Amino acid sequence: MNVYESPEMYSTELNMSLAQAEIRLAHFEKAREKMKQSRQCPKCQQYTLKVEGGEWESGVRDWVYCANEKIEKTDDGGDSIFVDCDFTDDVKNEYLFAFHHDFDAVLMMACGLDIHDEKAVLHNIGEAWSKFVEKDTKKFTQLVNVS
Ligand SMILES: [Zn+2]
Repeated sequence: MNVYESPEMYSTELNMSLAQAEIRLAHFEKAREKMKQSRQCPKCQQYTLKVEGGEWESGVRDWVYCANEKIEKTDDGGDSIFVDCDFTDDVKNEYLFAFHHDFDAVLMMACGLDIHDEKAVLHNIGEAWSKFVEKDTKKFTQLVNVS
């Protein structure tokens, strides 16, 4: 079962009002769309950008690269060959896909917790479920533009 299927399902499953569920789902949908858009490679125009994890141990930071390996070129002999795009860049804010803009803290919290058990909720997150949902959802209403 996918709670993202409908606001009704999401609000029931995660114990919140329908209005809150609608705000959240609209936000996630928008965020995912923008993240998808931000995968467009400036060099080859394909939506093939990916992020590669660096190694903090050796001081290498994450970077963005293009996974497109099918750029058609003509070699010296006149034959068609496929080459890599080879575009790379630092991770910048405009590469929305490299960040977790679609992270759902409420869903994550609800996964390991009986959210109808008020005591357990209070013990685990330090506030009532409705408060927690309200706060997290407020972030989305203030953050209308993901970029
Ligand atoms: Zn590319």
